[in-house]
Amino acid sequence: MSLRERLDLVHGKIEGAARKTGRSLKDITVVAVTKGVSADRVTEAKEAGVAVFGENKVQEAEPKILNIQPPPEWHLIGHLQSNKVKQAVSLFQMIQSVDSVRVAKEISKESQALSRCMPVLLEVNVSGEPKKYGFKPEEVYTVLEEIVKLPNVKTMGLMGIGPLGASEQVLRDSFKKLKNIFGVCKTLKIRENLEMKYLSMGMSDDFEMAIEEGSNMIRIGRGLFGGRT
Ligand SMILES: *Cc1c(COP(=O)(O)O)cnc(C)c1O
Repeated sequence: MSLRERLDLVHGKIEGAARKTGRSLKDITVVAVTKGVSADRVTEAKEAGVAVFGENKVQEAEPKILNIQPPPEWHLIGHLQSNKVKQAVSLFQMIQSVDSVRVAKEISKESQALSRCMPVLLEVNVSGEPKKYGFKPEEVYTVLEEIVKLPNVKTMGLMGIGPLGASEQVLRDSFKKLKNIFGVCKTLKIRENLEMKYLSMGMSDDFEMAIEEGSNMIRIGRGLFGGRT
């Protein structure tokens, strides 16, 4: 199957899932995940109409970001190490994987140095799997209160990864949990540095379910580019 065919297939599935919650394709942002994918194939996806791309690692992303011109929008979706923050802030338009107050502080510092404001999502470990990064669901609100105090960082939503190999019920429960936290965050009376707009959940195997449970941003790798080796 060609990339265009896969993209059409994914768009059709998004439309179907979105319709169930009174939304449509245009309400869902697709982030094409390009880990292990060559710059040529990223360009092909861009030419097919994909507007937003996601990478897990700063190092792998850098040559793609610099070589694909004019650049599409790039999001960092993997764990960010302290020594890569400066680079990340200069390369990405959004950091979806903020998983500690410490890294948020560093993003703030480096963004100030570049006189820019970095949109971020807070990563939440909804499934509670010990190997996963992300804030515990119950600490999100206190963390958010700290992060909104940081200059040059704007929190724009939450990101979560569904539990690996879980049953449909367990997956849906974890998406529901994240949607709930998102809903509560939206009611917080914080004016500055906060615009709860994006709920980033759903990947190749579970994005339809995630959309049905309220996701408005999905991160698709294999579903667009085929299997990774
Ligand atoms: C790899 C990855 C994805 C995409 O995974 P697929 O199963 O290939 O769609 C999405 N989000 C994160 C954080 C990832 O690391």
